[in-house]
Amino acid sequence: MNILERFISYTRFATTSSDDCDVCPSNPDEFLLANHLCQELKQLGVKDAHVDEQCFVYGTLESNVAHECPTIGFLAHMDTSNATSGTGVKARVIENYDGKDIELSEGIYTTVADYPDLADLKGKTIVVTDGTTLLGGDDKAGIAIIMDFVQRCHEDPSIRHGKVLVCFTPDEETGSGIHHIDLNEFKPDYAYTVDGGSPETIAYECFNGASAEIRFHGNSIHPGSAKGKMINACQLAIDFHNMLPVFDRPENTEGREGFNHLLNVQGDCQSAESVYIIRNHDAGLFEKQKKDFEMIRDTMNARYGKEVVELHLNDTYRNMAECFRGREYIIDNMLNALKEAGYEPKSEAIRGGTDGSQLSFMGIPTPNLGTGDFYCHGNHELVCIDYMQSMVDVVMKIAQASCEVK
Ligand SMILES: [Zn+2]
Repeated sequence: MNILERFISYTRFATTSSDDCDVCPSNPDEFLLANHLCQELKQLGVKDAHVDEQCFVYGTLESNVAHECPTIGFLAHMDTSNATSGTGVKARVIENYDGKDIELSEGIYTTVADYPDLADLKGKTIVVTDGTTLLGGDDKAGIAIIMDFVQRCHEDPSIRHGKVLVCFTPDEETGSGIHHIDLNEFKPDYAYTVDGGSPETIAYECFNGASAEIRFHGNSIHPGSAKGKMINACQLAIDFHNMLPVFDRPENTEGREGFNHLLNVQGDCQSAESVYIIRNHDAGLFEKQKKDFEMIRDTMNARYGKEVVELHLNDTYRNMAECFRGREYIIDNMLNALKEAGYEPKSEAIRGGTDGSQLSFMGIPTPNLGTGDFYCHGNHELVCIDYMQSMVDVVMKIAQASCEVK
């Protein structure tokens, strides 16, 4: 089976995950794809391939070199975003794409004006939808790349590699699936997620994240006799918000700039509550942002002479970049493999967290590789098969480089 057929076979599984669900997988149909992938791994010689109760697929490629070398892992996720439908996906192959607007189905177009990157795909083989669903290249393209790599190793024993662990995960889009990974099954020395985006874009930096929950304690009294007595908790929440730096609001930031995002505010005269998320790539600036919250609390409490503001700050995740300090070869192996494949890799500081950032703090440093999937989470999603094929080479070169690491 080639990578195109393989990818299309995966798009037939509807694996939309759901945010408002406490069980993993959030969509029981993720098991259908998991079982399919497990069978496929077994056919490709991965004898220990299995699916666990939480819908994780695990498999091992045993080392075929005599010397000791690190165990590495590759991961891709099986679920698709719930931003649009993932059911009844009708993948359509366009060979030798002419670089012009694409009619997905009658009256629905993916245009070069709206999607300027299309021009770069001229002459390549791409796969599109009929414009009514997403394609699921995020992250079935990643699964197809890893599976193709497994097939190549199976067919060509001269490809030398150390022990390689493969893992297909549920519920990445909801951000919660990775908490259920079994580290007895998957504990490589380091790993790579193969998840979405242009092959040139790699990611090993993300935000530091914290949340701030603030309670405002007011003093309610009839407005007719409020003079000098009323403390309106909603007003406290407004005052607090207005003391935070205006240019730290998400709508005023991009790239590496951090932000304080007011998620929610509610209350009445007696009591109010607001919730913020705090984000920055830079650990020092991140601490400074948290300090701002503390200083505003102290200023307001001093002004009223009592505790009108109660602040709870919680760190939620950290920038995974720190996990690669002293182990730069994990990134270098990825950069070298991409350069050998003819790409000019660019590091993107992710404005969010990833499965890789969570794994990194579980002790498995995990940067991300692109796949050749574009415009994900929408009906104009498409994948470039040429890019996917070259990413199989990249994965293979990383596996080979890892058995040269001492
Ligand atoms: Zn993804």
